[in-house]
Formats: sequence, C-alpha cells, structure tokens
Amino acid sequence: MNAEIISVGTELVLGQVVNTNVPLLAKTLAKLDIAAPYQVTIKDERQQIEDAIEAAWRRADLIFVCGGLGPTADDVTLKSTAAALNTSLTTDQKHWQWIKQVFKRRQIKLLNENIQQARYLTGGQPLANPAGLALGSWYSTDGRVVVVLPGPPAEFKAMLEKSVEPRLVATFGSGQRIASRTMNFLGRPESTLMEEIGEATKKFSQVTVTSYVQPSRIQVRLTVPDLSASKAERVLGATADAILKVDRQYFFGFGDNCSLVNQVVSLLKKQGKTITGAESLTGGMFQSTICSVPGASNVFNGGFVTYAAGAKEKLLGIAPEVIDQHGVVSAETARAMAEKSREKLDADFGLAFTGVAGPDALEGQVAGTVWLGLAIRGQQTQTKLLHLAEYSGRQEIRNLSVQYGLQM
Ligand code: ATP
Ligand code: MG
Repeated sequence: MNAEIISVGTELVLGQVVNTNVPLLAKTLAKLDIAAPYQVTIKDERQQIEDAIEAAWRRADLIFVCGGLGPTADDVTLKSTAAALNTSLTTDQKHWQWIKQVFKRRQIKLLNENIQQARYLTGGQPLANPAGLALGSWYSTDGRVVVVLPGPPAEFKAMLEKSVEPRLVATFGSGQRIASRTMNFLGRPESTLMEEIGEATKKFSQVTVTSYVQPSRIQVRLTVPDLSASKAERVLGATADAILKVDRQYFFGFGDNCSLVNQVVSLLKKQGKTITGAESLTGGMFQSTICSVPGASNVFNGGFVTYAAGAKEKLLGIAPEVIDQHGVVSAETARAMAEKSREKLDADFGLAFTGVAGPDALEGQVAGTVWLGLAIRGQQTQTKLLHLAEYSGRQEIRNLSVQYGLQM
C-alpha cells in the first residue's frame, strides 16, 4: 500500500510558508502502516497539478492533493484534479445553502466564486470540513483513491482527524502490524546515549531502536514487528527495563507526547506539593511553562522574576554580600534565590535560575553558563551547574535552562 502526498501552493514552493500539513498526514499514514515514499510540492498551476497527479497515478494507490480549495482565482486544485481524473465537479446543494447562511449571518458579501467551496469530485464523496467552508473530496476509481484536502492548517487537521482517518481505517484497516514504545531523555549527548542503549539492548535482536533529537529532549523509539500483542508488550517492556538500568537518570517518561513539565505538574499534584520559582536569565519562562499545563493552579501559587541584582535583593531579600562575594552567576546566588522564594511563598519546592543567556559574557562567564538551585522543604538545597554554550541562541539557552530545572 503506497500513498503519495501532493502539496499545492506557490507560497510553499517559494519557502514563504513552512509546510506543516504534510508531517501531520505522514504521521497518520505511518500509524496505519501506509507508506508515503513520494511527497511533492508544486505551485498553484493547472498543468503542474495535472502532471503531478499523473505521475502519482503510476506509483501510488492512494493520492492526496492538499491545498488550493479557496474561492479565489489562484485556487485551481479542484478543477485541475477533476481534469486529471477525467471527471467533473458536483455542487453539494445543501452545503451551498449552508455557506450562504454563514455569509448572511456574518454580514459578508457572498461572491459567485464561493460556490466553488461547495463542490467536490463527481463520482466521489464530499468530505465535511469541521473548521472551514470548503468541502474536501474522496474519490475512488480504478483501484485507487484520490483525496482532496484544504490548505489552511486548522482545516486540514480537523478534516484529517474527523473525516479522512476514519475512512482510511474503514477502507484499508488500522495497520498496527508493528508495536512501539517511545522513551524520552534529557541531559545526555545523543551519541553517548545511543551507544549505551545499543549495548544495553544487544540481546533484544527483534527490537529496532531509533533516536530523534528535539530541542528539549531526545526521543528513543523501540519498535518490534508483527508479534502477538502480548508478546510485543513483553519484549518492549524488557527492552525498556534494560535501557533504564543504564540511563534512568536522564529518562523522564514514556510516550510521544510526554513532556517534562506535564510530568512535573502531575507528580506534584499527586503528592499534594507546591512549587515556586525565582528567575533571572529565564525571566518568567519557567513559571509560564508551569502555567501552560491545565490544572497548574493546584501546584503553583506564584513566583519571582528577579532579573537585576537589585531585584534579587528587594523582592527576595537576598543579602547583598551573597551577590557581592560570589557574583550573580554562582551556586551561592542560585541557592539563596531558591531558598528565599520557597520561604516567601511557603512552597514545598523553590527552583532558581541564574546564568548568562548571552550573547555577551557576564562576570567573566561565557554565555550558556547557568546555575540552578532547588530548595526542598525539610531537605538540603541542591545546586547544579549547566554548560549550554553549544546551544548558541539566547532563547535555546533559556529554554534548556527551564527544561533542566524541571528535570532536577
Ligand atoms: P483558502 O480558502 O484559505 O484559500 P485553500 O484550501 O485554498 O483555502 P490555500 O490557499 O492552499 O488553502 O492556503 C490557505 C492558507 O493556508 C495559506 O496561508 C497557506 O499559506 C496555508 N497553507 C496551505 N498549505 C499549507 C501547508 N501545507 N502547510 C502550512 N500552511 C499551509
Ligand atoms: Mg487559497
């Protein structure tokens, strides 16, 4: 089973807009065990669209044509697809009535061209658009299926999830002939981590191990082919255990969507504990990250942004001597910030960030030098030094500081 994805959009070809639709579709197809070896991007031009469909016809069973379903003259996807398939367009009268009502309600002038958005490939079926006006098309002929989808990312995503994926499952089955497990790590260079994992998993010969580096984590994916579900789970579980024996300290959770901040918030919530922060170089990023999780109010009452030395003294009550003697970027300052913030808000944990976001050095320390402090009620305060210099950008240094703080 082979699919081909054709993205239509001059702005995509020219690099003015990043193609975010294809990765979504490719992921959905991969989940269903449908390969998509060819993914092409072409301009909003009739001839190019017809040629691309013809080429795809020779090598794919399932063809996606994405983008260019709007009412304007530059949107020629549907007409060109119909021409390539030797069919015409049908107007969905009910949908056209609905579009007219929407325009009336919004008090926008309806153009004759808007009827294009109520059209689909004759002989096929219209696909509902849960997030916009234009219909999609599902067209089946000669042992092949052609699917036409709108370009705007919100519409594309909604239609993919609500209309296309269920049809793909109904038509081609749910795949799942491979089982997999994703593990998330932070704080180990990828090459070292993969070397250790390779060694630890040597005896699990059916398991394929791949890694994928993202800005704030390394994802390691374990895959096994075609085993019974219970056997696959057993093999994956044993492999993950072997990996954790070696690299547990860098591991923070299972799953594609696992994030450190979600893990931290849910752990705190489970334990009925609260956290606060005192932030210098991160300027509130840690607190903003905590607040991005629904239910953060259970674990977070507030915190401090103390960028300048004076603010550290005024807001947190840090003795000027600490900063004078040791500098702003020091274990002592990180410790004092963590302890004072925790005490002031009577939280269970106080996490502090002080360091050099760059690009310039500070107090003779290069960009990327960061001290973290973690004060814990009833325990000794911990500090940790990070060297993030290889992450050249200011934002990356700040973001990674937050991630390492969460890991701590
Ligand atoms: P519209 O009625 O909005 O014109 P359309 O189906 O014709 O809908 P396009 O003209 O292709 O869609 O694109 C609409 C918007 O969505 C544009 O801003 C375009 O840059 C963006 N877009 C289109 N395709 C993609 C894509 N593959 N990834 C990200 N953005 C996209
Ligand atoms: Mg358009």
